[in-house]
Amino acid sequence: MRKPFVAGNWKMNKTVEQARALVAELLPGMQAVSNVDQVICPPFPALTALSNMLSGTAIGLGAQNMHWEAQGAFTGEVSPAMVKEFCQYVIIGHSERRAYFGETDATVNKKVKAALAIGLAPIVCVGETLAENEAGKTSEVVMRQIIQGLDGIPADQVVKIVVAYEPVWAIGTGRAATAGGANAVIAENIRIPMAALFGAELAQGTRVLYGGSVNGANAEEFFGQPDIDGALVGGASLKPEFIKIVEAAGKK
Ligand code: PEP
Repeated sequence: MRKPFVAGNWKMNKTVEQARALVAELLPGMQAVSNVDQVICPPFPALTALSNMLSGTAIGLGAQNMHWEAQGAFTGEVSPAMVKEFCQYVIIGHSERRAYFGETDATVNKKVKAALAIGLAPIVCVGETLAENEAGKTSEVVMRQIIQGLDGIPADQVVKIVVAYEPVWAIGTGRAATAGGANAVIAENIRIPMAALFGAELAQGTRVLYGGSVNGANAEEFFGQPDIDGALVGGASLKPEFIKIVEAAGKK
């Protein structure tokens, strides 16, 4: 049995002060659900404050990105050890990073390896753009992102990886994928190539999330699908509605 998993990606929102206030508002409702792994991913400056607030709770903390190098002349970047000081998780290869900051399957692969090496659980994002979707390339793109992004990961570390299928056209647009369509991509284009890489047992044991306009009203439908283990949530993770999504995952 895969434990349900819900992560909130705050993107570039909330000052430290605002982040504290939002967590104070969300925490009681989140803590009331004990059978879901829950993670908050705020911007870097809020990590210290939130790690203090969340210490002693079961709520995890994640960064939204990191560099793969340990240290050095990489102005503006944050190293795995810097993330590990505060976090248990790190989002890798979010489509906004791929689209605006030049991330590729090769950099995703380096970051996943660096995260695992330091003991962080990577939340690895894959998903096709609207143009790729309309050109019938969803399978090809998602399978390539999985095969190249997870290339060379030692099998004993695969259990720590969480994969998020986020069709780019569904992120922040209010236009979610259909639950059945997302489930099919996860089953066929994520679990099958993972089985080829790591064996059927690890592929079946990996938590795979759906992301893209998940909200309090549609979450339950996604979580009713057999291959969807939870959600990576953007916009709705900044609102009390996030608790509804966590509660829906708890019913899985
Ligand atoms: C995301 O940021 O990963 C995301 C899925 O955003 P939204 O829920 O707003 O579509």
